[in-house]
Amino acid sequence: MPLVFSLNVPLAPMTTLKVGGPAKYFAEIRTEEEVQEAFRFAREKNLPVFVLGGGSNIVIADAGFPGLVLRNELKGFREEGEADGKVLVAAASGEDWDALVVYAVDRNLAGIENMSGVPGTVGSAPVQNVACYGQSVSEVIREVRGVDMRTGERKVPGRYFVTEVVVALAPGGKVNLSSYQDVAKYAESLDHAPSLMEVRQAILAIRAKKGMTVLPEHEVFQSVGSFFKNPAVSRELFEKTRIKIETEGGPGCEGNWFWEQGDKVKMAAACLLERSGFPKGQALGKVGISPKHSLAVVNLGGATAAEVAGFVKSVRAAVREKFGVELEPEAEAVGFAEAPW
Ligand SMILES: Cc1cc2nc3c(=O)[nH]c(=O)nc-3n(C[C@H](O)[C@H](O)[C@H](O)COP(=O)(O)OP(=O)(O)OC[C@H]3O[C@@H](n4cnc5c(N)ncnc54)[C@H](O)[C@@H]3O)c2cc1C
Repeated sequence: MPLVFSLNVPLAPMTTLKVGGPAKYFAEIRTEEEVQEAFRFAREKNLPVFVLGGGSNIVIADAGFPGLVLRNELKGFREEGEADGKVLVAAASGEDWDALVVYAVDRNLAGIENMSGVPGTVGSAPVQNVACYGQSVSEVIREVRGVDMRTGERKVPGRYFVTEVVVALAPGGKVNLSSYQDVAKYAESLDHAPSLMEVRQAILAIRAKKGMTVLPEHEVFQSVGSFFKNPAVSRELFEKTRIKIETEGGPGCEGNWFWEQGDKVKMAAACLLERSGFPKGQALGKVGISPKHSLAVVNLGGATAAEVAGFVKSVRAAVREKFGVELEPEAEAVGFAEAPW
């Protein structure tokens, strides 16, 4: 069956932020041959291509995407034997990342349990370098397989549509308690060593409290998770910022709000937002900061991409004006003619 290309397909419902216009052309990819076919189509029509996973880290322009959007529906898990004492699991890139975590935890394979509940697909995990609660996907990735977008060749690595990701996981289910403080604290509250499933449940509970899941059993906010990166600044700028923060006092910068990173100092973006007039729950029209997480920009209902971009601009301007610090977004702008924020 030839691949079906649809016209003007709305993209907002396929994203977690729920903003943006349609894809000019759209296709759902279920086999590697279809990836090749889609790239041929795009080359013939000279179209830009966008690979859509779970849409959980993107802001799509109100005008939509003026090319071909490929929604990744490649599915399946396979075990590929062992190497260096680790079990190799090959996951098709269209699988939910969290389905891979469940697959691993069910088989007592350790290494990704702290990354339970991260939205999105397996294929974008290496692109985004997913990390949280003391674990990072870069620590477990063995191989990333894909198809080159320009030539259609099967290449590893290159600039490609990721089709499969191989992760190396530790058998035996031993929990690494030093990986994350809250996991260690949780383990202390038990009368036995926690299982991977118990760690998963603990992480999901932490995420739910912060409004950082898209699981139907939790309260879900329309966001891309953390919108801003924690900025790394020069020592000089850090000192100026520290003096302002300590002299003023007030909420938002409790605990460790800065840490060393080489010759720079990294600061918690959440602290800077709070002290610049954007605390949790602060809204401007239909866009605001989540009431449960200081870095999540939330579509409160019916917002446009332009309204989200306007809000992000206001936040960045407030932090720049107050501290002289430039906040960089984590989220990716898709389909915009020029940088939206
Ligand atoms: C509530 C919430 C909580 C979050 N928490 C975390 C967290 O704790 N840690 C974290 O790291 N992130 C977090 N995120 C961000 C997001 O989940 C990750 O960035 C995730 O990896 C994005 O996956 P996706 O499939 O949705 O990618 P998309 O948003 O669909 O795409 C993101 C980018 O990856 C590219 N891409 C997607 N699939 C492929 C592929 N197969 N081949 C090539 N390129 C591809 C896209 O083209 C795009 O450039 C969170 C997001 C939300 C909404």
